[in-house]
Amino acid sequence: MRYLSTRGHPDRKRFSEILLEGLAPDGGLYLPEQYPKLDAAALAALRTVLREQGYAELAFRILSMFIDDIPADDLRGMCRRAYNREVFGTDAIVPLKPLEDGLMLQALSNGPTLAFKDMAMQMLGQLFEYELGRRGQVLNILGATSGDTGSAAEYAMRGKKGVKVFMLSPHNRMSPFQQAQMFSLQDANIHNIAIEGVFDDCQDIVKAVSNDLAFKAHWHIGTVNSINWARLLAQVVYYFAGYFQATRDESERVSFAVPSGNFGNICAGHVARMMGLPIMRLVCATNENDVLDEFFRTGTYRVRKTAETHETSSPSMDISKASNFERFVFDLLGRDGARTRELFGHQVERQGVFNLSAEEFARIGTYGFASGSSSHANRLDTIRDTHRRFGLMIDTHTADGLKVAREWMQSGVPMLVLETALPAKFAQTLVEALGCEPERPKALEGIENLPKRFTVMPVDVAKVKAFIEAHA
Ligand SMILES: *Cc1c(COP(=O)(O)O)cnc(C)c1O
Repeated sequence: MRYLSTRGHPDRKRFSEILLEGLAPDGGLYLPEQYPKLDAAALAALRTVLREQGYAELAFRILSMFIDDIPADDLRGMCRRAYNREVFGTDAIVPLKPLEDGLMLQALSNGPTLAFKDMAMQMLGQLFEYELGRRGQVLNILGATSGDTGSAAEYAMRGKKGVKVFMLSPHNRMSPFQQAQMFSLQDANIHNIAIEGVFDDCQDIVKAVSNDLAFKAHWHIGTVNSINWARLLAQVVYYFAGYFQATRDESERVSFAVPSGNFGNICAGHVARMMGLPIMRLVCATNENDVLDEFFRTGTYRVRKTAETHETSSPSMDISKASNFERFVFDLLGRDGARTRELFGHQVERQGVFNLSAEEFARIGTYGFASGSSSHANRLDTIRDTHRRFGLMIDTHTADGLKVAREWMQSGVPMLVLETALPAKFAQTLVEALGCEPERPKALEGIENLPKRFTVMPVDVAKVKAFIEAHA
């Protein structure tokens, strides 16, 4: 299996070469040259693998179709260390919870940080440690976070050999719970830097450091952002696991509703569908930041200015542009790298917008995509309704998914709503909706009282660089 860039660069690379890279040299995103295709017999075999050997083995089988430069036993070992009861608290890893007829939640947030980002990040931690060890290299991961990504990265990388994490977050602007999750980590390779500014200041510092190419190369600076192909690949697995749990045989189809921000999660569903998983609809659910809903309704992709981006009660979906979206559009355009470069490299870069032609837009239907959006009032209603009817507390992002899922149900087709976080992470809105605190997993009781390990710093690129030099 070789990988190409969505913008038409002629190079072809192997998995291990792109694992530690971000964008392709031409600014595009990496995708496999072609998707492995599974027929009904191959799907049935994977169904048996899940039933008899469990999620980690299913992950190994699917990852093996895309990775041919890591020995099988090594890859299998990594899958087992990433996906087990100790890390995810359940043997099923991604169990289903039935709601009304044909509608169910698929739990993706039983990992250490209570959000679905653990699903990919736990695997990435294994792959990074392995590949760095094999090359005899080290990596200093630099990132900015307002919550979910940073904590998932830290829990995946803690104690990993060859990896250090420098995570910037806005000082006193995360929820006490999220802050405690990150700052209570005592591992020597994890560095929390609380910046006296807002999230954008953190991101600007990361950009400034990364743009200093000499510094970046000398200190082996890397990232774990959502465009990393390995993250996307790890997420493909739970679409298969959801499908097998919801169906009896391969003649059945299911739909998925996905709370979406950067289009990473739902793009993994697109890959699963391209491989032959019988998915009817992929429902893209957004919040008030409806860049993607607008695209699927109109064929216009219009990135928002920072000032136009709403701060919502499903904050992990507050995006101005969707960093993984280019992958889907590349497939939609028949893998035309020149056209993709024209749309993303030129039109989005210069005007912040592109319009698909009528003919291009008409193809979206054949890829099974549908969309909708949700407001704060919708979110509160859905949380209340789910609690009243099913005795279940759901988080704000999952509520957005559930609201939009109901708009696209078809009789006879199960609809799986991806549960992307546990309500404990977004307690404030749960209290607003229900008048009580969400339940919290036992292991996280009283986490706010643990000793914290972090460094406060002004918005100052030079100071952050000096900190990295002193600790890398
Ligand atoms: C990151 C995140 C999302 C959005 O996922 P994308 O892959 O960016 O589309 C949704 N919900 C939660 C809780 C998240 O952390």
